[in-house]
Amino acid sequence: MDKLDDLYRDIVLDHSTSPRGTQAIERVDASASLFNPACGDRVQLSVQFENGTVSHIQCVSKACSICTASGSILAEAIPQLPTSKARDHIEAIKSMIRERTVPAVLQDTDAASLAGVAEFPNRVRCALLPWTALEQALSSVSFRAEQSGVEKSLKDSHEISPPSLNKVREESK
Ligand SMILES: [Zn+2]
Repeated sequence: MDKLDDLYRDIVLDHSTSPRGTQAIERVDASASLFNPACGDRVQLSVQFENGTVSHIQCVSKACSICTASGSILAEAIPQLPTSKARDHIEAIKSMIRERTVPAVLQDTDAASLAGVAEFPNRVRCALLPWTALEQALSSVSFRAEQSGVEKSLKDSHEISPPSLNKVREESK
């Protein structure tokens, strides 16, 4: 067993036994709750934004060690990133876990410890679950988050919110 694998295992163990970012956040602007039936992992992710930046994250996992560690790594890496950078980070994680090559942006970060998961196809979903939850949370509010602080005049308009799906269906009958 080489030293790098030992180091990575220690990082994953540390995050899974004492996960970061489990504390409640002040205001929940977006959230996503995901279940991975293949393993039984559950992740509840809450996000708070400030001016287009992900300011705070809470990630609560009832999951295996890989999924819990991945959520903890996410909760440490993402806060204070602009939403666009957070999306780039999600893409970097996905490609790393699929290809087992660590992109430059993830070199020397705790996230690099997840690269080895690529060798175990049934654990890939465990590792990706928190990141998929973040992706869903970001896409659910991307418009508002990216506009906040930029187009302040839009705040006064209540007509910018899209109609609910039910309403659209009713109208199309
Ligand atoms: Zn799992």
